[in-house]
Amino acid sequence: MNEFVSPRTRVALLSCRNVCGGTEVLTTYRLRLYPTRTQERLLNETLETCRLLYNRMLADRRENHTGFYEQKRVLVGLKKNSKHLRAVNSQVLQDVVLRLDKTYQAFFAGLAKRPRFKRKARYNSFRYAQLGGFRVIGKALRLSKIGSVKMKLHRPIDGTPKTCTVIRDIDQWYACISAKIGSSEPIEPQEGKAVGVDLGVVNLATLSNGRTFGNPRHLDRSIIRLKTLQRRLSRKKKGSNNGEKAKVMLAKAWRRVRRQRDDTAHKVSADLASGYSTIVFEDLHIPNMVKNHNLASAITDASWGQLRRLTAYKAERRGGRVILVEPRGTSQKCSGCGEVVPKGLEERTHSCPNCSLVLDRDVNAARNILKLGLERARMEEQPLLVQRRRISKFAPVKQEAYG
Ligand SMILES: [Zn+2]
Repeated sequence: MNEFVSPRTRVALLSCRNVCGGTEVLTTYRLRLYPTRTQERLLNETLETCRLLYNRMLADRRENHTGFYEQKRVLVGLKKNSKHLRAVNSQVLQDVVLRLDKTYQAFFAGLAKRPRFKRKARYNSFRYAQLGGFRVIGKALRLSKIGSVKMKLHRPIDGTPKTCTVIRDIDQWYACISAKIGSSEPIEPQEGKAVGVDLGVVNLATLSNGRTFGNPRHLDRSIIRLKTLQRRLSRKKKGSNNGEKAKVMLAKAWRRVRRQRDDTAHKVSADLASGYSTIVFEDLHIPNMVKNHNLASAITDASWGQLRRLTAYKAERRGGRVILVEPRGTSQKCSGCGEVVPKGLEERTHSCPNCSLVLDRDVNAARNILKLGLERARMEEQPLLVQRRRISKFAPVKQEAYG
């Protein structure tokens, strides 16, 4: 696979697909579950048991500095004395220990914050790590210690299911089943059209060829309802029945916004991945940008990170690639001659005094992004590597005009 990655120049490849053994590929299916009342109670109990175990293991790690393997042994001891733990599948329990260890690894590597104790609302999934703990039988999902749960199989599962994550989304349940698609032929890298993408708030994406994708601003359209619900919640007594109801209403309103965002990101990414074989984005450090409160909600609403991630895996599947480049200076430089033409945020047009090029500001930036991306692609050929970003205070910040 020819992806170009270099930690030095921070040309990173984003991907949510795992490549195992070169040609074998994991794909994830998200399927809606329809548990019965009893099953739902069992699912909720499983989540609660997992959460308590997670918190207990976290406390143990903080106090006694135990490691992963030690904790796995501790778990065996705990199970002997707890009927709650014994009521949960052992793969699921072991996965809790593994999850905590992964969070710690990410923390030690500087990729995440220190692991925290989980509140009830913050613990919404558990995982069966091997087939056997779960099984797809017709239109049902057999979960060990839960039972056979009705499932909406909106498309057939290709390949062998490997893991199954059960997710609670307020009042709905989902199963994310990752399946290994047999070692097919390696995907041929596609040669073809390349495009640079400038992400923005006015337009969600502007391409180097002048095409734009508008920003639907889902949050703006729901903000009045969200504020009303938030106010209603704040008037209710904490922990009361009515308070809980108001909380659920608010969470559902947010879920609606989230799903609208996902929908937009899926459509735009599918469009990009099907139209171009090389897609260049800016390597924006989004968590840092979101610290700017004026911009935070606008950026989150545009869901740039999601868009890049989805484009990366869709492009990869088609033999295309996504390249990330340093964002510094892309909007100031002239894409025609390279002259630096300083401009304020409100200036929407790039007009170069040197080569008299006049272009839309964002198209100019997108052309610079494309140029940088193609340079990087020529410079370095390195094996595929999926990178996560370090948390850094000094990552470049994109300037964005937003009223
Ligand atoms: Zn110029």
